Amino acid sequence: MGESLHVPIVDLQAQYQALRQEIDEAVAHVLESGRFILGENVQRLEEEVAAYCGARFGIGVASGTDALELSLAALGIGPGDEVITTPFTFGATTEVIVRLGAKPVYVDIDPDTYNIDVSAIERAITRRTRVLLPVDLFGQMTDREALWRIAQEHNLYLVNDSAQAIGAQQNGVPVAAVGHATAMSFYPTKNLGAFGDGGIVLTNDEEVARSVRRLRGHGAEGGAYFYKVPGYCSRLDEIQAAILRVKLRYLDEWNERRRQNARLYLELLQGTKAILPQTAPGNLHTYHQFTIRYRRRDALQQYLKEHGIATAVYYPLPLHLQEAYRYLGYQQGDFPHAERAANEVLSLPVHPDLREEQIRYVAAMVRRFEEEHPS
Ligand SMILES: *Cc1c(COP(=O)(O)O)cnc(C)c1O
Repeated sequence: MGESLHVPIVDLQAQYQALRQEIDEAVAHVLESGRFILGENVQRLEEEVAAYCGARFGIGVASGTDALELSLAALGIGPGDEVITTPFTFGATTEVIVRLGAKPVYVDIDPDTYNIDVSAIERAITRRTRVLLPVDLFGQMTDREALWRIAQEHNLYLVNDSAQAIGAQQNGVPVAAVGHATAMSFYPTKNLGAFGDGGIVLTNDEEVARSVRRLRGHGAEGGAYFYKVPGYCSRLDEIQAAILRVKLRYLDEWNERRRQNARLYLELLQGTKAILPQTAPGNLHTYHQFTIRYRRRDALQQYLKEHGIATAVYYPLPLHLQEAYRYLGYQQGDFPHAERAANEVLSLPVHPDLREEQIRYVAAMVRRFEEEHPS
């Protein structure tokens, strides 16, 4: 364990090399077909991802961000509406609400899972609330049953931001089975990543599916130049869909390797000062990220970097304290769990192409940091 290893946070070249022949063939097939927009690969991928995630319909769109926005737009969300969501997430979750002219209303997170604290949601509901927009952060689902119960009781829509949780389950129920819509991202570093941008809306509601389908193609229906509503230009490319169909066949295996990597970390980091990630009962975690909390986070991150280990901070500033959303009027101290998480979280490499030796090295370096920097 004397020498230094290089441990990247993701390794997309390794993944490509492993599947090179299959992917190259799939891409060549699309190039030869001359059909680049909304062809057979997109349609098949929509069916395959929907089935995999427990939804009846899938609609491929240009990104995970668009999957969120088109879901909300399909449900008619706009000015005057409030959307209850988490301040501890990627910016897109809030951005799409604001883009539609609606208002994000934040609820603090559960410090154990980093997901929205479902038990605090009802206090945030007002006459204007229309949607619950939880995020399945780092790869484990927010309590869907509880969310669904609240949504039903208060006549709200449930839209899941599951960009980080493809393949997740809760008590055996797959990630997109419950809710009015579920948004997925195929951003390259996600558990199922394209070679560019991509996303999908999953839903069990035929009307939502129809509306998203219309919106992604300029609002047209019943012919390309007949517009029912003002829409978007937001489609998933055939080339990306062909690549994703190859990769989808490996996703279960990759997610299982992520869980194995996580189990090894959990074992090796016992007894360190790291607060280890917790899985809520019933959850099948996909470990999009393996996120620890650490009081001296920045010093640890710097130390690991000096020893060849890439880590990341998801996310360094909660959304209610961002300059872009200052106008919402929130203050420091409004969401203490989210604020504390932002100061302490550190995501360690957990991707499926890691070798056991690399994980052991990362854990050993965390221990060495503690020996060299006692306090
Ligand atoms: C990645 C991500 C998105 C956005 O997906 P893009 O495909 O990058 O647009 C939205 N929400 C969360 C939580 C994400 O991690």
